[in-house]
Amino acid sequence: MTKTHWRKILETDYLGGFDLDDGKGNFREIDATIKKAERREVKDQNGNNETCLVIEFTDKDIKPMILNVTNSRMLEKLFKSSYIEDWEGKTIRIGTEKVRAFGEWHNALRVRNFIPKPKNTDIICSDCGGVVKGRGKATAQIVADNAVKEFGQPVCLDCWEKRKAVTEQYANELGEKPEQLGGMLGELPDPREAE
Ligand SMILES: [Zn+2]
Repeated sequence: MTKTHWRKILETDYLGGFDLDDGKGNFREIDATIKKAERREVKDQNGNNETCLVIEFTDKDIKPMILNVTNSRMLEKLFKSSYIEDWEGKTIRIGTEKVRAFGEWHNALRVRNFIPKPKNTDIICSDCGGVVKGRGKATAQIVADNAVKEFGQPVCLDCWEKRKAVTEQYANELGEKPEQLGGMLGELPDPREAE
């Protein structure tokens, strides 16, 4: 039987060790692709504001994660850069580790010491190196196929938007309509194509 960790009942805005509880007394590991890393004011347990480094993930089902120094150092090591902008688009594996703090044991989040291999079924964006995800009824495969038709390469929807913006700006500078530049401007895949 799968049970429910009591902490999961409470609403939390940020990922915690308990989110990885598998309901059977163990903790699972997840792979997550970093969408962005930024400084945020976060309320601590006493309601005071605290400045934190927070990473958001491309997968909306995974809550943002507050990075402590240990995990920040791990990202720096994995991606050979201390600049948070360089971590965007990168995939990490997150697990837990039992740590003792203030006399109690906690299951703290830990970024694992290796870069997870993408699953075979994943389609990798040729711009950012992240996994191409679907949207609505358009599966990842449909997004990738449309991107290949448009650009000759599979790109994720975020990078697609970026490419569109660049093309539009370029067209503006040239005083032309973006359409006249040809294949560079693509509309996002129509979700109805999946039906
Ligand atoms: Zn991308």
